[in-house]
Amino acid sequence: MTTLRLAIVGAGPAGIYAADILLRTERSFDVSIDLFEQLPAPYGLVRYGVAPDHPRIKGVVNALRDVLDRGDIRIFGNVTFGEDITLDDLKKHYNAVIFSTGAIRDAALDIPGIDAKGSFGAADFVSWYDGHPDVPRTWTIEGQHVGMVGNGNVALDAARILAKHADDLLPTEIPQNVYDVLKASPVTDVHVFGRRGPAQVKFTPLELRELGEMDDVDMVVYDEDFEYDEASLEAIATNKQVKVIDRVLQKWRELPSANGAGGESSRRLHLHFWAKPVEVKTDADGNVTALVYERTKSDGAGGVVGTGEMREQPLSQIYRAIGYFGSALPGLPFDDRHGVIPNHEGQVLAEDSNDILPGVYATGWIKRGPVGLIGHTKSDAMETVTHLVNDQSSWWQPEDPSLEAVPALLEERGVQWTDLDGWHRLDEHEVALGEPQGRARIKVVPRDEMVKISRGE
Ligand code: NAP
Repeated sequence: MTTLRLAIVGAGPAGIYAADILLRTERSFDVSIDLFEQLPAPYGLVRYGVAPDHPRIKGVVNALRDVLDRGDIRIFGNVTFGEDITLDDLKKHYNAVIFSTGAIRDAALDIPGIDAKGSFGAADFVSWYDGHPDVPRTWTIEGQHVGMVGNGNVALDAARILAKHADDLLPTEIPQNVYDVLKASPVTDVHVFGRRGPAQVKFTPLELRELGEMDDVDMVVYDEDFEYDEASLEAIATNKQVKVIDRVLQKWRELPSANGAGGESSRRLHLHFWAKPVEVKTDADGNVTALVYERTKSDGAGGVVGTGEMREQPLSQIYRAIGYFGSALPGLPFDDRHGVIPNHEGQVLAEDSNDILPGVYATGWIKRGPVGLIGHTKSDAMETVTHLVNDQSSWWQPEDPSLEAVPALLEERGVQWTDLDGWHRLDEHEVALGEPQGRARIKVVPRDEMVKISRGE
């Protein structure tokens, strides 16, 4: 029987689901999968993107671990595609490759002052509080009022972490240095700005409701934001999710803290709708001092138009949570506008001709852009895998598909790769670190330490 030697680049949910789906698919050939990951640990955004106080979503790790622990997928962690292994190398040793490298950068917000000191991308902040080894370990939270631009779930996650008292995050897996910074945070008010109205938000009801459950944090919404037009009323009447969101917000309108009138808590989380960011103002040293935003109104079709009314919210820091953006991979075509690898249903397309590149596939956020929940990645992987299986006649014909070839190559290049046993070692180490303090785990953050523990050195 023919064997498909498949490389998957990216060990987040997208890559692991693709491997799992392929292994379960009815097919006329055997499959042997090597999963490459640039980090020393697998699980991508589940480990480094899901907020630490979301153990339910982090629980997806259990399903992903079951797939890896079946033993029919080899992992090569701490291997950077394009440096430690290239597309040409993969062509020599595999029949095909699926790229599932996701999206981890912040999308750009093109307004004056956005590069000021104290202006950050929320994705960077998330990477920091989730202990990503490749972001600086230090973060300074300054001032009492901080802003968050965006009305998606990332905006709510990052706003919640900024508003929450650090001690309420202690039972989670946040690294110690993150706890220390949050514990010392001077923040009293977090302002979230959405450019559209309450009926057009991208966040989900569960995540919104959760904001109201924070200890000693009042929710603040403003009556002026709830003058609904026909389009908003229609959305509330016909879309269950929007209806629940509206119900939650309407309740908050009745709180003593509504309209900024007061409240009993020491911290507040304000939701400002119809607020389109226009400019980040700075002082003479280039530090953020305020966000200027234009009040918008509905255009009657779910979009907005500016009203010309400018407002200013004094802030010490501003975070933009307006979406993630994918990164180009060496040797592969890239769509700069959408931050994805150009593809037709997961079959990668040449940049200039739009022809299908045989043997090269994509799945997950690097295929379809940074939208959708983790579960959506499964149907996406199914589509890609179906093409891979049907394309058998156009797979690469590798020079040396042997199982020994790639470890030998990495060894020769001095790559300190980590494998599945190594991940188990690191996993157990982190859980053991957390145990005496009754915490789920304490993440090991520095890359070299992760590698050392994984490799048992
Ligand atoms: P998102 O859901 O696409 O939200 C992006 C937000 O940024 C939208 O409110 C968008 O407004 C706004 N925005 C975009 N460009 C803007 C601009 N130039 N100025 C002002 N606002 C702008 O993206 P995300 O929050 O990064 O989330 C990505 C995906 O991950 C989503 O599917 C999300 O549900 C998922 N996720 C889920 C969870 C969870 O389940 N707890 C946690 C995190 C992420 P418009 O709508 O007007 O464009």
